Amino acid sequence: MSVGRSDHTTEVLILGAGPAGLVLGNILQAAGITTVILERGGRAHIEQRARAGFLAPGSVAVLSAHGLDAGLRARGRTHETCEFRSTTDRFELSYGQLGRREVHTVYPQQQLVTDLVAEYLRRGGELRCDTTAEQILDHRGDRPRVRARTTDGGELHFTASYLAGCDGARGLARATITTPRSTCEYGITWLALLAEAPPTSDTVIYGVHPDGFAGQMPRSPGITRYYLQCASNEEPNQWSEQRIWESLAARLGAERYGALREGPIIERGLVRLRSEILDPIQQGRLFLVGDAASSISPSAAKGANLAILGAQTLARALTAALRSADDSALQRYSDDCVPRIRRAHEFSHWMIGLLHPPTGPNPGFERELQRARLHSLAGSRTHQDFFAENYVGI
Ligand SMILES: Cc1cc2nc3c(=O)[nH]c(=O)nc-3n(C[C@H](O)[C@H](O)[C@H](O)COP(=O)(O)OP(=O)(O)OC[C@H]3O[C@@H](n4cnc5c(N)ncnc54)[C@H](O)[C@@H]3O)c2cc1C
Repeated sequence: MSVGRSDHTTEVLILGAGPAGLVLGNILQAAGITTVILERGGRAHIEQRARAGFLAPGSVAVLSAHGLDAGLRARGRTHETCEFRSTTDRFELSYGQLGRREVHTVYPQQQLVTDLVAEYLRRGGELRCDTTAEQILDHRGDRPRVRARTTDGGELHFTASYLAGCDGARGLARATITTPRSTCEYGITWLALLAEAPPTSDTVIYGVHPDGFAGQMPRSPGITRYYLQCASNEEPNQWSEQRIWESLAARLGAERYGALREGPIIERGLVRLRSEILDPIQQGRLFLVGDAASSISPSAAKGANLAILGAQTLARALTAALRSADDSALQRYSDDCVPRIRRAHEFSHWMIGLLHPPTGPNPGFERELQRARLHSLAGSRTHQDFFAENYVGI
């Protein structure tokens, strides 16, 4: 049964309630700008979806500057060491002592989203969950519109001064904008796992192994994220828990460096490594932020951080346009963001080459280069400083 059609207006209509949309909505609401966020998922779904965990200092500074950091200050943990393991070697990099001496804050994305939703509602924002944006109309004109549908069949029509596409890599905003884009398909797939188990050590561990990459990322004292490179045609359920723990142990050198702390696998999914850069990330009155603006593989933990920084850049530009009739920052929005996005991609691409068995036409030779890169990272202070600056910086 249809529940009919309704029409709405707002100053800024935001598609998607991930980190990008919620940070943007919070900053705009605090500036007195009316916003509506449309979110396809239910509130419980977005508040439980485990994804990112590592926040760079630049992201923490944005959250702090806008009064969005109470949860991460109370429950986040600093993290400053990562470890590389190969079949022949192992070394740690205390990146908090290298480069600019900056550290990560580990705060699970679902907790951050929960905090941001609560604060957005407290600031008077309108969050419409279970509502999918289906069509963007007239985004090149002065009064862009969006048609959306609720899960109970209602049809909503929104007119706004500006649209913010924060609806992720496969969202409507990216599909609507017709700007040039460059893509890299790596042909690499990860099995992404959450284990109800403490990490083996409180460091990120990158395992470089001929069978494929394996990684350990601490999330909380009792929950650890693991990654296992797998064949692209495999299904997550083809991996029994025994096979998962045996593969992790083999690729992370548990026999030499200490047994893993096992526990039930509570979540599993596939991540296909793929990158895409759009330039520009704006068209008319439609502006893309976060994963909608660029898909980046999780290899260097940049996605949520780009989302938070992009949201702040767009919020400032929209505030100037709406409150001071100055749209110069809005015109520059893409030019301000894309160089940062490119740098994050460059580092992420380098990490992918460092961590995975070669897939190019000369695998033997490429393996030798990979060994040289690891050797240099283990021994060269200049290389380590460069790594630290890019690993934590954004
Ligand atoms: C396993 C994994 C681990 C990761 N680890 C890290 C990490 O450690 N550090 C890091 O920085 N990044 C990490 N990332 C990446 C990070 O999670 C993303 O970059 C981040 O979620 C991007 O935020 P966003 O707000 O742009 O998009 P999203 O979080 O994807 O939010 C987009 C929202 O839009 C909604 N939506 C989509 N289409 C519509 C529509 N048509 N109408 C209405 N709503 C819609 C979606 O439901 C979603 O809630 C990881 C990703 C994965 C998958």
